[in-house]
Amino acid sequence: MICDEPISALDVSIQAQILNLLSELQRELGLTYVFIAHDLAAVRHISDRIAVMYLGHVVELGAADALCRSPLHPYTRALIASVPLPDPRAERARVQLPLLGDVPSPSSPPSGCAFHPRGPVAIARCREEAPALLSAATEGGEGQRQVACHLIDGPAR
Ligand code: SF4
Repeated sequence: MICDEPISALDVSIQAQILNLLSELQRELGLTYVFIAHDLAAVRHISDRIAVMYLGHVVELGAADALCRSPLHPYTRALIASVPLPDPRAERARVQLPLLGDVPSPSSPPSGCAFHPRGPVAIARCREEAPALLSAATEGGEGQRQVACHLIDGPAR
């Protein structure tokens, strides 16, 4: 079942009810969801695996918990760092990773890696060659991870 932004226009208490209903139906009927959303906390709550997309391309793919705990792609890192924390002390200490500039037009994406004008680090290769989505080494080897970034190490790179 494709769920395209199913909770974005709802208030928080209704969002929780819809997420719980989806989880219940998933357990009872053995459903598989493709859950598309900008709310990372909701995505993490309902997903087994997460694919992070930037300008229409998957830039990181992996098990939900592991990906949220140790994101590798700079865009995923910025997204995770932007999620507010429920603990006020942790929230005050939270370090955000602001992205540079605006999202470019998908109809005329930047050359090479589409993320290069916005990322904190870009080398010459980033402006010339789009990185492929390849297996990446994760901290402690947890789960399988694929990342599209020239600067991430992995077995197939
Ligand atoms: S390939 Fe380069 S520009 Fe793209 S995410 Fe990696 S470091 Fe940033």
